[in-house]
Amino acid sequence: MLDNLTNRFAQVVKTLRGQARLTEDNIADMLREVRMALLEADVALPVVKELIARIKEKALGQEVVGSLTPGQALVGVVQDELAAIMGGAQSGLNFATQPPAVMLMAGLQGAGKTTTVGKLAKYLKEKHRKKVLTVSCDVYRPAAIAQLETVTGQAGAEFFPSSSDQKPVDIALAAIDYAKRHYFDVLLVDTAGRITIDEQMMAEIKQLQTSIKPIETLFVVDAMLGQDAVNTARAFNEALSLTGVVLTKLDGDSRGGAALSVRHVTGAPIKFTGVGEKLTGLDEFHPDRMASRILG
Ligand code: GDP
Repeated sequence: MLDNLTNRFAQVVKTLRGQARLTEDNIADMLREVRMALLEADVALPVVKELIARIKEKALGQEVVGSLTPGQALVGVVQDELAAIMGGAQSGLNFATQPPAVMLMAGLQGAGKTTTVGKLAKYLKEKHRKKVLTVSCDVYRPAAIAQLETVTGQAGAEFFPSSSDQKPVDIALAAIDYAKRHYFDVLLVDTAGRITIDEQMMAEIKQLQTSIKPIETLFVVDAMLGQDAVNTARAFNEALSLTGVVLTKLDGDSRGGAALSVRHVTGAPIKFTGVGEKLTGLDEFHPDRMASRILG
């Protein structure tokens, strides 16, 4: 993953590390390269501009130019700024509520929501020792409910049945009631997605959010969509006010742009990344680690 971005940066880093002196000229050359690399990686333009401005300001500062190894210091600046634009520190899930901690999943069809619910159930059970219940509010596709039941079983969590003739809000409220009575720590609520954003879908999920007041509203998005991933995240965030993003399919042919752009554009932190279809393929997102991975 992120191969293109990393390859582009590798050359910049190699040149920089060898620089005994930094001048305004070679800093400008470097910034041009960084800018090209970011644009080619499909990073959103405002994010590119912000990054370049921040790197430039620090690069011309005394800490870099006056350093014994200015090239190395500049690589450090680039890395810090990449991490900062992705939110800096890692953002975990919020459980600080009367159980169950209700977590609502949102996203387009095929983004990886149901798979992510399975992955999260496994993660919460194994890493946080939580008792997890899942429920599907996708009343449009019976196959989606069956798929959630399967992945929940694989994750070793419990599944709350629902059916196509029910209303999403009623399903979710019944699941919350069951979760309370049976002392579940977390309830993961899967929802219906559409191929594209449409008003009915947005209205439905907004209504769900208002009725169940989840402590987490996680937007699940396919990293391979690049700029579109970021645009969809923005639209969902305007409607729902997201608490976090799960970036899936980072194992695929992703150019890295979504990872770098989502936080800056939406204000919502990436909390997890999905890699592969197996339930073990969920990683906590650490901006600093991602930044060093990008720099190779
Ligand atoms: P939903 O419609 O949003 O619920 O999406 P699904 O969970 O059904 O996922 C759609 C497809 O993407 C399925 O074939 C999943 O196996 C696959 N998928 C989900 N997450 C990942 C991921 O992180 N990496 C890869 N390679 N495939 C994924």
